[in-house]
Amino acid sequence: MSHIGLTAAGSSVQQEPVVGTQRPQAAPITLDVDHARIQVTQPPPDSGSPRGRIGPTVAAVRAAPEFIRGMPKAELHVHHLGSAPPETLVRLARRSPHLPLPTDPALLADHFRIVDLTTFLAAYKSIVDLVRTPDDVYAVTVAIARRMAAQNIRYAEITVSPYSSVKRGVPAGAFVEALEAARSAAERTDAITLRWIFDIPSPEPEAAEQTLEIALGLQPPGLVALGLAGLETGRRRFEPHFRRARASGLRSVPHAGEALGPASVWDALGPLGADRVGHATSAVRDERLLDHLAARQVPVEVCLTSNLTTGVVRALADHPLRTMAERGLLVTVNTDDPTLFATDLSAEYLLAAGLLDLDEEGVARLARNAIQASFAPDPVRAALARELDAYVAAWPGSPQASGSAARVESSGGGQAP
Ligand SMILES: [Zn+2]
Repeated sequence: MSHIGLTAAGSSVQQEPVVGTQRPQAAPITLDVDHARIQVTQPPPDSGSPRGRIGPTVAAVRAAPEFIRGMPKAELHVHHLGSAPPETLVRLARRSPHLPLPTDPALLADHFRIVDLTTFLAAYKSIVDLVRTPDDVYAVTVAIARRMAAQNIRYAEITVSPYSSVKRGVPAGAFVEALEAARSAAERTDAITLRWIFDIPSPEPEAAEQTLEIALGLQPPGLVALGLAGLETGRRRFEPHFRRARASGLRSVPHAGEALGPASVWDALGPLGADRVGHATSAVRDERLLDHLAARQVPVEVCLTSNLTTGVVRALADHPLRTMAERGLLVTVNTDDPTLFATDLSAEYLLAAGLLDLDEEGVARLARNAIQASFAPDPVRAALARELDAYVAAWPGSPQASGSAARVESSGGGQAP
């Protein structure tokens, strides 16, 4: 999700027309992957409801949900506080009754019923307001890691916005210490490797300056990249910040092409030096851009449920992921903000499998893409790939998958499905 104007008024968001025009056909279907339950029950043809937009494409998924659930996974586009488990949020909300967040777990889901960018922004801001101390940062992060590990996510690059919390009174040094302590604890107790992408969350000039100051001044060992959410207009003004970050060894991961057209993606690739691009849904409107992304294998972080929920894409059947994959882009599957979009990574892989008509080996290729596109050190990427290959080879229902695992090992990495 773009997290547009988190610290500004969210109502001024301007979006271009959504991608795709096809309305979903009525198709009752229920899928259950971990805690994500996707149910489509005859949406009115013109409802355009977020769940209605997840149309019939997933009706005949060839890959087994249990394969996806058990598959070792890496996630690259997932926001810190948008991943906070509801039970953790309820605990924090009970401590801050003056904040407008329900303290009854049953009411929390209703509070987070996202139907567009404006409701998303309001919900996200209410979560940011809950985090008041370094202990909160630690508790939320450990809980996020545990929930990831329960889905067999073995590696995650989490997008964190230190500026948002520092602005609310959490000292920068203590914020970073809490993150790093949680990272160590998660690695020890939940066998998950975490890395951070520090995100510039708003167009305010001090947001970029302070984010960079925290990143380069404190140099958290887990930090791998600088990110950029917020409004997609006027992105070139962040060029100096990304230049400094890259000169210091950080990678560049801006959101782009989510709310605006292909020019936004070109700006990310050019002035901002993007190593990966978040969303890039509008890239399919520019043939030259598609060729560029494919030729250079610039990874694209796709977030299906997020795009459908916020209305960036109208229907799953129309999602640009299919074109991106057909054109040979290095696509990855992600949740964006799993708590707010009521999804998890297994559910996103299941949606992708339906959209791309993938069997287990096809799903594993998508998973390899995420490993390949990660900023993990080579030994970590190699270990993740070996673990995935072993899982595929051991999958009882897929004898051909074990042969493919050997092929991938010899080629040394992932590929577009
Ligand atoms: Zn995002």
